[in-house]
Amino acid sequence: MNTPTVFDIIVIGAGPAGQKAAIQGAKANKRVALIERERGIGGSCVYRGTIPSKTLRESALHLDVLKRASAAFEFNLRPDTQIATLLSRLEDVVKAHDTFMSQQLRRNGIFLFHGRARFVNDRVIEMQTVDGASQRFTADTIVIATGSRPRNPPEIPVDHEHILDSDSLLSMIYLPRSLTIIGGGVIGCEYASIFSLLGTQVTLVDQAPAPLQFMDQELVRQFITIFERQGGHYLGGQKVHEVRWDGAAHVVTKLASGMTVKSEKMLVALGRQANVEDLNLSAAGLQATAKGTLSVNQFCQTEVPHIYAAGDMVGAPTLASKAMEEGRRAVRHALNLPVGDAASTIPLGIYTIPEMASIGLDEKSARERYRDPLVGRAKFEEIARAQISGAGHGLLKMVADPDGERLLGIQIVGDSATELVHVGQLALQSTATIESFIDNVFNFPTYAEAYRIAALDILGQVAKRRSAKAA
Ligand SMILES: Cc1cc2nc3c(=O)[nH]c(=O)nc-3n(C[C@H](O)[C@H](O)[C@H](O)COP(=O)(O)OP(=O)(O)OC[C@H]3O[C@@H](n4cnc5c(N)ncnc54)[C@H](O)[C@@H]3O)c2cc1C
Repeated sequence: MNTPTVFDIIVIGAGPAGQKAAIQGAKANKRVALIERERGIGGSCVYRGTIPSKTLRESALHLDVLKRASAAFEFNLRPDTQIATLLSRLEDVVKAHDTFMSQQLRRNGIFLFHGRARFVNDRVIEMQTVDGASQRFTADTIVIATGSRPRNPPEIPVDHEHILDSDSLLSMIYLPRSLTIIGGGVIGCEYASIFSLLGTQVTLVDQAPAPLQFMDQELVRQFITIFERQGGHYLGGQKVHEVRWDGAAHVVTKLASGMTVKSEKMLVALGRQANVEDLNLSAAGLQATAKGTLSVNQFCQTEVPHIYAAGDMVGAPTLASKAMEEGRRAVRHALNLPVGDAASTIPLGIYTIPEMASIGLDEKSARERYRDPLVGRAKFEEIARAQISGAGHGLLKMVADPDGERLLGIQIVGDSATELVHVGQLALQSTATIESFIDNVFNFPTYAEAYRIAALDILGQVAKRRSAKAA
């Protein structure tokens, strides 16, 4: 029997949520143990999610610029292009990230252990290492940050060779000639547009008439137009009946409508499920919800007050940015440090090509809450910066209250959308007026100029409403 090792805080999982939780604890001079089952630290964000997918996206964008610059030449990727070639910078990015994170943990005096953690009781954690050894740790505060993995329904035979999920997709050796993607969520749409830009024939299949149902549908329509112009195909309103590898060259997807789609590879992107199975939650007096997540309050506290949960394992939105904030919040609450108000608005950034981003209320939810909100639009085609970069289409929507005074939300599709949205975020947080976008001077030429144009559009509508009332 191993002697328990005593800590103030034990954090399980070294993804974005766990790291920030551990660092917050150490900064408050607490003795912190961080337990990670993998050899590397960084979680799915670093190894299978955010960083790899964005590295591939960067290659696709660079190649697109090359293609456009050499329009006069016949420029196509070789049919046997290796994925590794397209991810050539990934190893450097991951290494740099790993070095930075390890140094940060070391600098803060965090005890990092590698092994699989499970509860023995609500204050004792047992860690099993790969060589079968086990060790026990105790702490007054425990943060569960074990993340999530792809949700693969049993009726789709994911073999990680022909039928892949988002964890295995980039282990493909060659760029496929054709790819069917099941699921029009964030991961499905991001990969659909990336592979399509790389020249793969992509068919994106979803039950809904349009993908990304939680996003402003005007933005989504622009995305679909551009995706289809690139050669992709969106098949909406379709239920998958059967998926099989034909044993020779194709993944065959039969749809309930009677249609059949054949492709070299398939990506199953049907959401994520929380990693709770290994934790022996019942020993800590905890139970997963019907959705398989852990339910928490606004401080990320579970039903057992000294056990917290943060990141993907507490549910949507499954974003690294949200995970980090929750990790930090959980530990501040546990240590009675000021937590601050939970951000009522978390920005959404979707790295499709073109990008999409959203903060606050969109047009539809503003209509539900305010009878007649005002919506200002700035088309990127009218902005000098977009014309210069030849970035193509884009749109910034500014949603305001019916008097056109208060900003309610911002939605953007187009180049730099995920960066640009933060101007709107700060404006929302500081309850900026629509007029303040006009009173401000924006650099020229910039995409940020779109804020001014959209605000002017709103004020124009206010004037029309006023004169209609007066008439
Ligand atoms: C393809 C893809 C693209 C994405 N793109 C973006 C993006 O552009 N922007 C964005 O914000 N987010 C993106 N995400 C989401 C982002 O990666 C996740 O939201 C984020 O990684 C969640 O962090 P986490 O700390 O909750 O979990 P994870 O990153 O999953 O980390 C959990 C850690 O816990 C460890 N663990 C699990 N069980 C145990 C155990 N029993 N004992 C010890 N360790 C354990 C795991 O090994 C892992 O290291 C993307 C995800 C995917 C899949």
